[in-house]
Amino acid sequence: YSTKEILACLDDSPIINNFQFQFWDWISQYYQCVLGDVFKAAIPSGLKLESQTKITANEEFQTQELLSKTEEQILNVLKHSKDVNISTLNQATGLKNTLPQIKSLLEKGAITVEEQIINAYKEKTKQFVRLASDFSESEMGDLIIGLKRAKKQQEILLSYLNLSKYYFEETAQKVSLTEFLKSGDFSRAVLKSLVEKQILEIYHEKLDRIDLSHTETSGLKTLNEYQEKAIAETRKHFQEKNCVLLHGVTSSGKTEIYIHLIQEQLQQGKQVLYLLPEIALTTQIITRLRTVFGNKVGIYHSKFNDAERVEIYNNVNQNDPENAYQVILGVRSSVFLPFKNLGLIIVDEEHENTYKQFDPAPRYHARDAALYLAHLHKAKTLLGTATPAIETYYNAKTGKYGLVELFQRHQNIEMPEIIIADIKEARRKKRMKSIFSPELMEMMTTSLENKEQIILFQNRRGYSPYLECKSCGWVPHCPNCSVSLTYHQYNNQLVCHYCAHSIQPPNNCDQCSSSEIEDRGFGTEKIEDELHSFFPEARIGRMDLDTTRKKMAYENLIYKFENHELDILVGTQMVSKGLDFDNVSLVGVLNADSMLNYPDYRAYERSYQMMAQVSGRAGRKKKRGKVLIQTFTPEHPIIKNVIENDYVSMYSSQLSERQEFIYPPYYRLINICLKDKNQTKLDQAANVLAKSLRKVFGARIFGPQSPVINRIQNYYIINILLKIEKKSSPAKAKWILNQHANHLKNMEQFKSIQINFDVDPM
Ligand code: ADP
Ligand code: ZN
Ligand code: ZN
Repeated sequence: YSTKEILACLDDSPIINNFQFQFWDWISQYYQCVLGDVFKAAIPSGLKLESQTKITANEEFQTQELLSKTEEQILNVLKHSKDVNISTLNQATGLKNTLPQIKSLLEKGAITVEEQIINAYKEKTKQFVRLASDFSESEMGDLIIGLKRAKKQQEILLSYLNLSKYYFEETAQKVSLTEFLKSGDFSRAVLKSLVEKQILEIYHEKLDRIDLSHTETSGLKTLNEYQEKAIAETRKHFQEKNCVLLHGVTSSGKTEIYIHLIQEQLQQGKQVLYLLPEIALTTQIITRLRTVFGNKVGIYHSKFNDAERVEIYNNVNQNDPENAYQVILGVRSSVFLPFKNLGLIIVDEEHENTYKQFDPAPRYHARDAALYLAHLHKAKTLLGTATPAIETYYNAKTGKYGLVELFQRHQNIEMPEIIIADIKEARRKKRMKSIFSPELMEMMTTSLENKEQIILFQNRRGYSPYLECKSCGWVPHCPNCSVSLTYHQYNNQLVCHYCAHSIQPPNNCDQCSSSEIEDRGFGTEKIEDELHSFFPEARIGRMDLDTTRKKMAYENLIYKFENHELDILVGTQMVSKGLDFDNVSLVGVLNADSMLNYPDYRAYERSYQMMAQVSGRAGRKKKRGKVLIQTFTPEHPIIKNVIENDYVSMYSSQLSERQEFIYPPYYRLINICLKDKNQTKLDQAANVLAKSLRKVFGARIFGPQSPVINRIQNYYIINILLKIEKKSSPAKAKWILNQHANHLKNMEQFKSIQINFDVDPM
């Protein structure tokens, strides 16, 4: 093939290293997606190239033909400005579309149009003022006297000398242009004449958007005897194994162990990646890490804007270890940073399903990807949690990973006392206060009286999950998705949580016109509302997706709660994870059943994890905490496991179910998801594909099955599930799946069907 010209060399050194190429290859093969999708996820968009149309006036052009008024206007704009594209022309001329004029001018030879490749990332610069050369004090004296007839200029120069502390300090203080002009109400014109006289000059300097300011550091905490034992075991396992599971109850001080291990890596000149499942958590951990490692720690997550991400990426990529971050604290996507010599990856709260990316591709699991990344760097991986994922514990029990267990909380604080409130019973006796059982009401009252804090957990945001007509049972649904709309009170809207479609709540039922439409169930917003009416004095905060969209929102909520500016924090699963508050004496789980009844083979495992984790927020410091769980099914085996803090029983019962019903860790799952706007066509396609796959995989193919939510944003969805034995080759199965999917897509009638794979779906 013929090669293309090289237009420009954009970077002085590569921005992607060899480890990354290998890592991307693995992701695309393991998770069955194209390399381009991995690239898109891996590189901040500011480092990708964009093309732009650049239009310039032709200097040699002599007007031979008559130009129209607008054409003349356009030519005029082009002659007087640089970097003009179509949208600037539209703006400058006030026309909606200047394309016809551009075409005509191009034909007449008046302009040239070229595609230009541009770098989307723009460095942030700031203007400063400084002396144009190194004047000695006597030279400076002469200069000042020389300006005696230009009073304004003299004033400016004196003011500069004053601000830069010229006479007092060896190196001049930086003087920013805007602050300088403001300081004396100077005009730019006067400053310009000093610049022309080569006395002062104005210069640009690159600014970092991320804060690299130095923080004071203090030493490491001394580990307690149990932590010492755990860290010694971890080191020992690492001599033979690449991965260790640290199974330590909440508040046992796992984070302190991580910090000691990080220190060891840094002393060997190695990098460390510290993964967390949730941005909310980075807020607390970053403070703990910065106290020890200062600005050797960088942080990376999706609340950063693109320019900030580019700066962190470039920082990790630089060749100067003195200035590059040595520790990166980040969420899922930080596995894609350009690490050069990782020594250790820590995956904290490894059981969390937020480590898995659902949409779009690559549908990767950051924990599993981290294991491969560590393998590339010959680094070690430490998985930490109080409630391991079943697969992880299985891998540890079967010897694939090292297993280290830590059952003592730091300073031997007792595990919280767990109390069950039977909602069915309380309802029957009409003793419920709205959504609060009498037990919860009483305990909240006591805690508030004692000036202790409370966390309430409900895994549902919004005000109420749905509205319902009292007389006929009609429920407003999203027109684009197969879900009911959630009522949000703060803006009085019914919102679809899948496509964000929103409408005003109807005054009358669509079906029977009755005006009695009531809200059903309760989300975090309603809980907050009800708390205000029962405890008008209490200060209440809410942490869910709706209250944490803004950049500093998490930080503010956590800060306020830490400083006891809030008495009660209501939240979704965000409050259940790893947060460490001193003064929380009570944690309430408002509805355990909504988690237990979720239609998924992992529902029991997840409910256990969720309840054990949120319980772990109670009584972390001073005294034993209390946890109150409201449920319709107090006898439920999982609730029993939670009360007894018995992870292992939960694990064993789940494991035998997994074996019986052929699920992980005994089998691998691959979900084949088909989407189309036309339901009939989609069903046909799914049937054709399932039939052809059955010829190869037989009874290991399940479906086609409609998911619980079978329409999102007007696309119908249908799934086919493949279960393969752990010992058989997944690579071969994936290859076959691809073949069959491509074959289907090549059939004329099924061209429009979207097919994607989800490997190890969650
Ligand atoms: P985990 O990560 O296991 O939930 P943390 O590391 O957050 O536990 O520890 C719980 C609390 O105990 C934290 O406030 C932590 O600072 C404190 N802590 C843990 N270990 C020590 C130690 N060895 N010395 C002093 N404080 C400790
Ligand atoms: Zn009705
Ligand atoms: Zn919708």
